[in-house]
Order: sequence, then structure tokens, then C-alpha cells
Amino acid sequence: MNRASNAIQRLIPNVPSHLASRVRVEQVDTLANLGGAIGLVGVFAAFGIFAAFWHSASHVYLVGFLATFITIYAAAFRRSLIWRRQSNRKEMSHGAYRVRNLHVGLIGLLWSTMPVSLAPHADSNQILLIVYVSSGLIASSVVIAPTLLAAFAISIPVMSGTLIAMLMSRGEAGPMLAGLVIVYSSLIFVSTIHSHRVFIQRTVGRMELEEQRELVGLLLRDFEQESSDWLWQTDAAHRLNRISDRMIQALGIPESDLRGQEFTHFVSSLTDDETATSAALTHLRQSFVKQDAFRDLRLAIKLQDRHFWWSITGKPVFEKDGAFKGYRGVGSDVTAAEESRLQIAHMASHDSLTGLPNRAFFRDALTSAYRSSSGQFALLWADLDGFKSVNDTLGHPTGDALLIAVATRLRACVRSEDIVARLGGDEFAILLHDVNRCEADELAKRVIDSISAPYHVNEMRLSIGVSLGLSLAPSDAKKPDDLLKNADLALYKAKTEGRGTWRFYEVAMLESAQERGALQNDLRLALEREEFSLVFQPIMNLDSGCVSSAEALLRWTHPEQGNVPPDRFIKLAEETGLIISIGEWVLHRACREAAHWPGQACVAVNLSPVQFRDTSLLRTIDAALTESGLPASRLILEITESIFLAEDETVLATLHHLRKRGVSVALDDFGTGYSSLSYLRSFPFDKVKIDKSFIRDIATDGDALAIVRAIIGMAKSLGMIVVAEGVETDAQLALVRSEGCTRVQGYLYSRPLGCKDIRLYITRLAVDSGLGVEPTSTLITATGTT
Ligand code: C2E
Ligand code: CA
Ligand code: CA
Repeated sequence: MNRASNAIQRLIPNVPSHLASRVRVEQVDTLANLGGAIGLVGVFAAFGIFAAFWHSASHVYLVGFLATFITIYAAAFRRSLIWRRQSNRKEMSHGAYRVRNLHVGLIGLLWSTMPVSLAPHADSNQILLIVYVSSGLIASSVVIAPTLLAAFAISIPVMSGTLIAMLMSRGEAGPMLAGLVIVYSSLIFVSTIHSHRVFIQRTVGRMELEEQRELVGLLLRDFEQESSDWLWQTDAAHRLNRISDRMIQALGIPESDLRGQEFTHFVSSLTDDETATSAALTHLRQSFVKQDAFRDLRLAIKLQDRHFWWSITGKPVFEKDGAFKGYRGVGSDVTAAEESRLQIAHMASHDSLTGLPNRAFFRDALTSAYRSSSGQFALLWADLDGFKSVNDTLGHPTGDALLIAVATRLRACVRSEDIVARLGGDEFAILLHDVNRCEADELAKRVIDSISAPYHVNEMRLSIGVSLGLSLAPSDAKKPDDLLKNADLALYKAKTEGRGTWRFYEVAMLESAQERGALQNDLRLALEREEFSLVFQPIMNLDSGCVSSAEALLRWTHPEQGNVPPDRFIKLAEETGLIISIGEWVLHRACREAAHWPGQACVAVNLSPVQFRDTSLLRTIDAALTESGLPASRLILEITESIFLAEDETVLATLHHLRKRGVSVALDDFGTGYSSLSYLRSFPFDKVKIDKSFIRDIATDGDALAIVRAIIGMAKSLGMIVVAEGVETDAQLALVRSEGCTRVQGYLYSRPLGCKDIRLYITRLAVDSGLGVEPTSTLITATGTT
């Protein structure tokens, strides 16, 4: 028996030892539930047998059988009743379980005596009845399969008894019935074991799941007590229905105020920063509508006048039948993490010096303006004039302070919804929402006035200017990058047209920018393709009538465009830095030409401020002089006032170096642009060239004459030679001569001449010098190009 049960044990799944007792309870529960019904069927069958065999079988056996059956059945039934009445059926010992099985086993044994006792004297009908009843009893083991021992305690004795009885029976059908019982019983055994396995697996699985749930519950409770996070739960109508102590503590709101609050309504009533939170709130509401889970929604919260960041996570909970039960989730205070994240984000999108948005932020703002704005908006690009010199001469701390002041003024010029950004260096940009051209124009004026007003920085009074380029969206450009490019083109225009002003983008600017780009490319190749040449314009000495010097003027013969005037390409060469190599070529070529000139005639070479700032300038000059053999005293360098804009010590140092080398320096185009007589005092120039715009008007405009008179007086008092440039008429010549000017350059004498012609010109005049040659009878007709 023990061995058999061991074999059966092997067939059935293992019950974890800590669950064994509870599984037994479940087993006995099913037995108690079904046992009553099976028992009643058994009683019915027992009475049937009693009646059917009363006339043919031993009355002693029949009465004994029925009495014993009822006694055992009553005892088992009583136990079941007691068991089911027990309220806490949580545990069941092995011993108690065995007693239950013993009852069933006794019933099984009793039933097994029935076929053995009755079959030997039974007729064929009675035999069939015995087989029917026995089969029914064997089949009942499937019903009580959860208690496998009990099932076998019935089926095995009954099967054995029936088998023995059939083999012993006198009838011919006996062996066949015995075979049927074996086949039938085997099927029942297999089914019983299978049902038992399923029962045990389900029960154990369910119990383990319950255990896990309990564990999770315990952990969550633990988690709530340990961390600053709090759990929340709502009912199907989204009303808070589980308010933990942690939650009350974290929120500082009494439970009575929390319970029953609609969750999204409750959360939005606490939110603080509308813009920072609206997306998260919308997401929350939508999730609730769709009964979706949501994770880590960041909300800006204001509680008792303090600002917090919450992270809310939630998950819908459904009943077994799929009905929505509500939400369960967790809320955390993520203020510290969120603040540092925001700070990092701010740092990535803002300029650390001025606190203004940076270029990346501004570009994003432009993109969203394009996406959202239905009306017109304007982009204003500002570039400070003269900031570099402040920064270079007064140092970076002063420069920084000035930039901060500029940022403050720019912000003050615009409305709160407009965006002022620092694009880098001394460049700023403003995005103006919903403005027309007229309003943008007004603002540009305001910005220029505001930025140009003096600053008081580090106890110094400073002045700078600003140039502005404006472009309007969507009329000027359909994309942010194009809008920026257009504003930049307009800014370029404003800068080339005298700074301190503003320009709106025009299509022509793009065209000329494209032209400039193409010309720039050609300019790069011009030197190696030998497209440059020099012409020389004589400068007359009125006292001697001789050519005192000749100015070298650069010419570019473009392969397609022909002669490109220097006004068009010198600036381009300066912007690209090409002027350095081009200027070097000019110096070499000019010196080489002048070395062949007769007498002491000097050559004047124009120097761009870009060349002047280049550290290799002195070396280049030395090389040009050495290579050509021209004495330094015959080289004049013409510079303009703009080199002083940098206000750099090195400018004066370079000038003195040149002077030391024996090279003369002339101040060109004097009177235009910055026109400060103080420049004349800052360095002992050899010559000052009065700009041709004054000479042009000298005969007609009293102011021009007054300016020329002042310049000549000042220069003379400083011992400088004055050259009048652009003299075209006799009247102009007479006037400059009468004012005491001794050098004259202009078409009246000669246009710029080619190399051969200038040599001839100088020779002739040198030969004729002293003969009082009048300019009107110029010896050589101008052949040069201008
Ligand atoms: P700039 O240095 O003021 O040169 C004098 C300009 O005045 C020349 O123009 C010359 O042809 C013109 N001019 C001379 N006499 C008269 C006159 O009586 N009436 C009028 N209306 N104009 C006269 P150009 O050759 O077109 O040169 C223009 C400018 O280009 C020059 O002005 C100079 O700033 C620049 N440039 C020319 N060659 C060079 C060079 O080799 N290097 C640099 N850096 N700049 C150069
Ligand atoms: Ca010049
Ligand atoms: Ca000039």
C-alpha cells in the first residue's frame, strides 16, 4: 500500500512544503463540498442493492452492509459539516487529512465486499446491476480527484472486488466483464491522476500569486514609509480613494480635503507655471480619457507658497471581467533633479554673460514663429560699431560690462513677448512678433538711439554705435535660415553705407551678394592669372613744376567683365584677406617701376587697413625695396584715417617703424569719415591729402573752401606737405594754390598713366622744369584709364 502510494506520489506534482497544509485544506474543501452528493448517490445505490438481493442473498450480509455503510457515511458527513462550519480553515495537519481519507477508504472497502459476496449467487441481471453500481463507484473517483488518496481509496478496492467477483462468477460473460472493468478502470485512473495534477497546479499557482501580491503590498507599504514618494489611487470616476499617510504628509493637505477629489482637477489646481505644465496636464487628461498608462509626467506645483516639481506615474486597473476600476500610481517630488535639469537646459540655450538666449535658442524661436504665427514678424540683426576697439583698448572686463549694458538696453526697447538674443561676439538679434514694416522701422530707430547713447562703465564714459539689418517674415523669406541670411545681407548693406543706420532686406541685396560671391572667387584667381596691372597718376610740385611723385593705382582686367573699378574689388579683397597678397604684389611692382624713373620722383602706394594690421607688412616693404633697389626715401605709403579706429598702440608703433626705415607716410582722403584733426597730431605725417570731394566743391561751396583752408593751415603748422586731390579745373587749381597748397593731383594734369607713359611724363616735365609749364599745356595727353 505504501509502495503504491509512493508511486502515485511520483506521478503527481510537488507541492511546495510551505503550501502543503493550505493545499490540504483546499483538497478537503472540495471533498466536503462534493462528498455529500456522492454520499447520497452511494446511499441510494446501497438501498438499491439491498432491495435487489433481499430474496437471493444472505440477509445477515445485506443488513450488516447497509448498517455499516450508513454508520460510516453519517460519521463522514458529520465531519464534513463540522469542517465547513469552521470559519478559519487555513491549515490542516497531515493527521487530520489522513482521517478524512480513512473514512473514504472504509467506504471503499465496504463497497468492495459487495461484488465478492453477492456475485457467486447472482443471476445475469443481478450481475449487470453489480457491474453498473461498481462502475459508478469507480467513476466517482474522478469527481474527488483533488484528494487523490481518497479517490483511489474508493476506486481501487471496488475495482479489485468487482474483478475478483467477475472471475469467480458462473456466467459466461464473467471474463469479458472482468476485461471491461480493467479497461474502464485504467481510463478512470489516468483521468483521476490528470484531474488531480491540474487541480494541484492551479491551486499552487493561485496560492503563489496571492503570496506575491501580498509581498508587493508589503514592499509598497515599506516603500511609502521609507521614501519621499507617495502612492495614489482613484476609483473608476477618477476620484482619489486611497490616501496614504505619506501623501498627506507630502502634500500637507488634510485627508478630508483629498478624498473624493477628481485627480486631474486636483493636480491642475495645484499647478503653478502654466507654460511649463500645460503639456503634461494635457497628456494626463488624455491618458485618463483613454484609460492609458502614463509615466513620469513633470508638473510644476505650488504648495503653501513653495514651488515644487512633481513626477506622476499611473496605471489603469481593471477587474477580472475587464471593467475599469480606477488608477493606481506614484507621485514623487523631483524638485532638485528638475531644477538642475532646467539649469543645464538654460545654460545650453542662453548666453552666460548677458543671460540672453543664444543663437541655437533664437533659431528655434524663429522656427516656432514660422510654425505658429499667422501674421507678420520681423527679424532685426544688430552689429555693434566700434565695440572691438573698446574691447581691445580697455580690456575684456570693460567689454563684457558694455555688452551687458547693451543687452539691457535692447531688452528695454522691445515688448516682453519679443525675443532678444546674443548671436555671439558683438552681434545681437531681435525677433519681433506681429509687426509690420512701419513698426519695425520705428523700433530700428529706437534701438539705434538707445544703443548710441553714452554708457558709464567702470567709471568711464563710453560710446559705441550699432548697425541694423531687418528682414520681414513671411514676405522676405519662407524659412528661418533664409530670414537670417536676408537680415545679414541688410546688415551688410547698412554697414557699407556708413554704419549707425539700418536697412531692410531687398531682393537686389541678394543679387549683389551673389555677384560679390562670384567676383570674390574670380579675385582669388586674378593674381595667378596675372589679371592685375598698375597705372600711375602724377602728383605735381607747383613750386618746381616737376612731378614730385606718382600714385600707383591698381587695375583689374576681368576675363569677362573687362575693367573692374577698384571701388568694387578692393573692399572684397579686404573682406577676404586677399588684399594681403594683392598688396604685396602692388608694392613689389610699384617699387620696381619707380626704380626706373628719372630723377627723384617718388612712388606713392596705397595701403589698406587690413595690410596695416598684418604683422608681415614691414618685412614685405623691406623685401620690395631690396628687390627693386629703390631707396626707401622714394617710397610713400598712403594710409587712411580708418587705421586709427582700432585705437591700437601697435598702429603708432608701426608708423614709427616705417618712419625709421626712411619711408614717408601720407594721410589719404583727409576730411572724410572720421575727420579728426587730432589724428594729424598723433603722428608726424609727411603728407596730408585733402579728399577730392572738398576740391570738387571748393569753387562753389564756401564751407568746402573753409574746410580746405583749415586743413592746410593745420598741416602747415605741423610741417606737413598738403596735396590737393582731384583737381580738374583751372579755377580749382587757382584756389588751392592761393590757399598755399604746393602739391596737386588730378585730371587737370593727368589721368593715371601706364608704365611707359608715366616714365615719359616724368622725363618731359623734369626736362621742362623751370620753364614755367602751365598745366593746361600738359605735355602728354592723358592716356591712362581711370
Ligand atoms: P584714392 O587712393 O583716393 O585714389 C585716387 C582716386 O582718385 C583714383 O581712383 C584716381 O583715379 C581718382 N582721381 C584722381 N584724379 C581725379 C580727378 O581729377 N577727378 C576724379 N573724379 N577722380 C580722380 P581709382 O584709381 O579708381 O582708385 C579708387 C580707390 O581705390 C583709391 O582711392 C584707393 O583708395 C583704392 N586703390 C586703388 N589702388 C589701390 C591699391 O593698390 N591698394 C589699395 N589698398 N587701394 C587702392
Ligand atoms: Ca591714395
Ligand atoms: Ca585719396
